[in-house]
Amino acid sequence: MKRSLTATNLAIYQHLNCDLYIHNIYNGAKGSAGTELSSSPSELTKAHYKRGLEWESVLYAWLDDSNLLLTVPQIPVEGDTLLENIFADDRNYFFIAGVTFWPPEAQLAEKFKESLSPPLHFGLAKPDLLEIRRTNDGIQWRVIDAKASQHVKVRDPALSLSERMTCSSPSKVSHHTQVYFYTLCLNFILQSPHFRGQDSAGVWLPPKDGFHTDPPSLSDISSISLPLLAPPLDTLLFRTLPRVVAQPRESVKWHFNPLCQGCRFESGCKSRVLEEGQLGVMPNISIDDSRTLKDLLRMSRVTPPIPKPLADIEELHNLFSNRHKLERLRKLSPSVVKKANQILALPKKTCRNEETKRSPLVEAAREKTILASSPLLKINGFLTLS
Ligand code: SF4
Repeated sequence: MKRSLTATNLAIYQHLNCDLYIHNIYNGAKGSAGTELSSSPSELTKAHYKRGLEWESVLYAWLDDSNLLLTVPQIPVEGDTLLENIFADDRNYFFIAGVTFWPPEAQLAEKFKESLSPPLHFGLAKPDLLEIRRTNDGIQWRVIDAKASQHVKVRDPALSLSERMTCSSPSKVSHHTQVYFYTLCLNFILQSPHFRGQDSAGVWLPPKDGFHTDPPSLSDISSISLPLLAPPLDTLLFRTLPRVVAQPRESVKWHFNPLCQGCRFESGCKSRVLEEGQLGVMPNISIDDSRTLKDLLRMSRVTPPIPKPLADIEELHNLFSNRHKLERLRKLSPSVVKKANQILALPKKTCRNEETKRSPLVEAAREKTILASSPLLKINGFLTLS
């Protein structure tokens, strides 16, 4: 099987903030994509997904009615074919829908080589729209992504339904990665003397009062400056990703957290956190929270060092059972201990003669991991993690 990534995979990777996700995708790990409804996306994420599709169809219909749309067949296209389509059209300004292309392997391989990284392979790319402006200087183009909200729109049929629905990012970074990657590739495909790539890409948002109230408007296209994105995204694409996907699976960074709902690997990761007693056994521990708790555990191992690392949950239980050690850590880094106390819902005060502190979250998680290691229960599959 040829391993590859798509721009959509990159967007999901950034949204989930999980190296294991991209490692699994690239290395062909089995997920639950075949069983699309193995996890149930929330009503909210379903609504986001539906809204994205609605906005897209409203926008395409409006462009068509405004005589601004050229639709090309969704088959992988070369620069010359696209040029023929544009030359055959007598409009000076319009948008092309349906553009599909294979990322240029040879040119991307050069970029990996410059970064001293082994090359990665990429799958078929499908930007929403290309904005075309015919000028005396040539054909100016830029990638436009239709976006109903700040949420990443995902249509890749290779993804599980729940994954498509749950790729809703609070940050724009994941969205930018997609348009940056498309533009990077198209710059190699659509070359001079005829084509002139722009320094920006566009995000087409619905009108302020909603697309059910007002029609789309060209003034709602917001520009993304690509030169600003280039340094961090080139580092991500050509340095970080090759390193992440080449790591042995056991060394890959991951944390089971609320964002995992709908990821195609959710069920495997759910079982693994239980088996390994990781922080993700506790519900609602965010990636930031897990960083704080891991910092705390790292500090606790230094004084004195633990020869063989225990499961995270067991280590936390032990640490909070040792008041003197905790006190030492508090002096060392009061902010980490304070934050960890808040995350783990520890009581603010303990009685003078009390030697231990108990976090209800840690204790509940500990019970789950102990039960999970019971061979009888494992066989009968009684356990659930929620
Ligand atoms: S379920 Fe969560 S931890 Fe597992 S691969 Fe997906 S995002 Fe990463």
